[in-house]
Amino acid sequence: MAIEHFDVVIVGAGLSGIGAGYHLATSCPKKRYVILEGRDAIGGTWDLFRYPGIRSDSDMYTLGYAFKPWREAKAIADGPSIRKYVRETASENGIDRHIRFHHLVKRASWSSADARWTVEAEVGAERRIARFTCNFLFMCAGYYDYAGGHDPEFPGRASFTGRIVHPQFWPEDLDYKGKKVVVIGSGATAVTIVPEMAKDAGHVTMLQRSPTYVVSSPARDAMANKLREKLPARLAYQLVRWRNVLFGMFFFRLARKKPEKVKQNLIAMVKKELGPDYDVATHFTPRYNPWDQRLCLVPDSDLFEAIRNGSASVVTDEIETFTPRGIKLKSGKELEADIIVTATGLKLIMVGGIQIAVDGARKDLARTMSYKGMMYSDIPNLASAFGYTNASWTLKCDLTCEYVCRLLNYMDRKGTPIAVPKGDPAVAELPWLDFSSGYVQRARDVLPKQGATRPWRLYQNYALDMLTLRFGRIDDGTMQFLKPHPVAANEDRPEAVAAE
Ligand SMILES: Cc1cc2nc3c(=O)[nH]c(=O)nc-3n(C[C@H](O)[C@H](O)[C@H](O)COP(=O)(O)OP(=O)(O)OC[C@H]3O[C@@H](n4cnc5c(N)ncnc54)[C@H](O)[C@@H]3O)c2cc1C
Repeated sequence: MAIEHFDVVIVGAGLSGIGAGYHLATSCPKKRYVILEGRDAIGGTWDLFRYPGIRSDSDMYTLGYAFKPWREAKAIADGPSIRKYVRETASENGIDRHIRFHHLVKRASWSSADARWTVEAEVGAERRIARFTCNFLFMCAGYYDYAGGHDPEFPGRASFTGRIVHPQFWPEDLDYKGKKVVVIGSGATAVTIVPEMAKDAGHVTMLQRSPTYVVSSPARDAMANKLREKLPARLAYQLVRWRNVLFGMFFFRLARKKPEKVKQNLIAMVKKELGPDYDVATHFTPRYNPWDQRLCLVPDSDLFEAIRNGSASVVTDEIETFTPRGIKLKSGKELEADIIVTATGLKLIMVGGIQIAVDGARKDLARTMSYKGMMYSDIPNLASAFGYTNASWTLKCDLTCEYVCRLLNYMDRKGTPIAVPKGDPAVAELPWLDFSSGYVQRARDVLPKQGATRPWRLYQNYALDMLTLRFGRIDDGTMQFLKPHPVAANEDRPEAVAAE
């Protein structure tokens, strides 16, 4: 089969991949690109997740692209509206014409002699192999495993006679009207599902091992909606976007500087919602400081409202075993259930789980250092779109796309088709994400490291990143710019793999 060549291969047609297509077409209009998407749809996360109430937990003024104003009334938007927004971006800008669906990328091998990646994808159900070559590989594959979420093996699971559902694969036919539902988890997914299911279910219990910070916010941003009526859409969008960015940065800094004060304020807000008789100490007082994990946002107090009207309740305990009729807890209490929802989280993976080789040697990303939060030490011509932990994903993703375009244009001007961040063993290693959340801790073995100093340091700070990525020097002394050069494959290296 003929191998097609592109200047850039983008992997993934979610928020990031569509954003990457837009930036390439705008800033590098001569580059030929293709988007390889494993599924049959645009939208990634916002197409995959179909559980009741699926929504963003950050505002769409920062989760939306810098270049496309969010025009809907709700700032905390539901999944279908976000999916529509991503698809609209793709069709309005002709990005959809560049997508090859059902192309699940499995391997990418770099050759320094050719200054090219060979990308291998499995196509369709028959898993036919298609190969592409490209000068630059842009991974926009998200951060979790599409094949399955984190689903712990609870004792006695097989004995449960009701239905067990994981939110990543919500069954369309699930009828929960009048049923007793237990949702295991206390993260963003659980706090979304619980109030939504509580509208129709008999009762919903949120069963958590430990509490999370939960904050209520209006789903509609009154000021943003007013500004949109009075100002041109783009200007109103930028103003609200910056207001939200600055408030988010201020709040994050405050949480880091005065954790006790912020903690007390957050808990006081919950007490106000649930009243003096509610056991906030047990169910809504986390053991960690604010922003050691992501805060859970609930729009218009919907979770608190469901607790107040008795359609939902929270139990903080540990599971001893599933039983035929529900769940037995370590405290001895039993929860009856017709349906158990395991909102136990995602399984993190890097670069869509693809296998990477550079000049015949297999590369383990966990042994690399992340450069500017997007490239990897000693891996040429490859970048990943990745969001912030303390702000909306798209803020960083837009900046990453801008930087990649600047880099590509710089390489063209200099006539050096290879750009590789040269690893420096003298730079002290730090964990890539300083989050205590279970999904981050479970993934320590697959995540790259960050370095203690620039350009290896991740600041999780949009304003700072904007300065460095938009205006900082491309040729910063760490990035090496090279011409194609033969490299002898070292067969003795333990990680050596046969050339494809
Ligand atoms: C339920 C949920 C709610 C969230 N809410 C928010 C929020 O409110 N705010 C926020 O900032 N972030 C949120 N996030 C994070 C969210 O994933 C990002 O906001 C954003 O959607 C990521 O976009 P992406 O395109 O980078 O990745 P994804 O949306 O994950 O899309 C990746 C795409 O790549 C494809 N792909 C993956 N691997 C391969 C491969 N090997 N070959 C080919 N194709 C591949 C996938 O099929 C998918 O289409 C949420 C995540 C989840 C799961």
